[in-house]
Amino acid sequence: MITMINTNANVGDIAQIISSQNKRFIFRLVIDGKFETHRGYLNHNDLIGKPWGSRVYSHMGSQFVLLQPSLADILVETRRNTQIMYPKDIGFILLTMDIGPGKHVLEAGTGSGALTTSLAFAVGSYGKVTSYEARPEFQHLAHKNLERLGLADRVDFKLRDITDGFDERNVDSIFLDLPNPQDFIPQAKEALKPGGYIGSILPTTNQVSTLLIALRRSNFAFIEVCEILLRYYKAVADRLRPTDRMVAHTGYLIFARSVVEDLANLDGTTLSTESTDQSNQTELPA
Ligand code: SAM
Repeated sequence: MITMINTNANVGDIAQIISSQNKRFIFRLVIDGKFETHRGYLNHNDLIGKPWGSRVYSHMGSQFVLLQPSLADILVETRRNTQIMYPKDIGFILLTMDIGPGKHVLEAGTGSGALTTSLAFAVGSYGKVTSYEARPEFQHLAHKNLERLGLADRVDFKLRDITDGFDERNVDSIFLDLPNPQDFIPQAKEALKPGGYIGSILPTTNQVSTLLIALRRSNFAFIEVCEILLRYYKAVADRLRPTDRMVAHTGYLIFARSVVEDLANLDGTTLSTESTDQSNQTELPA
């Protein structure tokens, strides 16, 4: 499990080794295991019991640092046969859609399972993720990816096209990562609890417009559209400046809340598409 609290590397832990050229490898520690790198192999038995952060060596004498990988480290290494979602978008989605311990989250499609991994991690052992995917080969890889991390038992993997809707009712939130989310908004509304969250990610603005129309048609409220821009800096104190390259675009994020139809009709402002300016402070009672 990735969340184990320990100071030393144990059998069964997910470990990361980083070379002096910043090459990174992630694997699970097993008795008598052997991990091959471009600079020789490391015996797992030599790593087990070492404090995290230790310097370790391959059989050729090359140096590595032994660490516990973060969830973000694991996500970028996800074995994939589809486009996957990236930590910068996933982190914001989890907070915005209030995805945390004990929640029931529904997603489609599973793809390679990068978002599924993060959802399973966030909902904890009392929560639940239901993940729909139309293609068996994608679902198979996603299942393997989550099994490797010890998270598969938090996920109900369903092999099905969501055109026919979802089996679940009263779920806390739904995330749609597929090219045509606008075609599944009534189905999503039926599965969501009143007040629940819907979210989606789309690469182009014209797809976003189509989705906005569908959300309005199904009386979703508090619709927001945003994009997360992340710029890394060279962490050198006397030459601090942005790195030469950045990922300029992953996708637009769309969020909305499910409200009871009458409420939406009663008060037009609930359907406002004005994004929440996060500098606007909600006034708290004195
Ligand atoms: N969020 C995933 C991740 O982070 O790894 C990537 C999802 S991938 C971009 C989109 C997936 O949606 C594909 O695996 C595709 O097969 C699936 N899909 C597309 N239309 C679908 C539908 N109608 N029902 C179920 N799955 C669908």
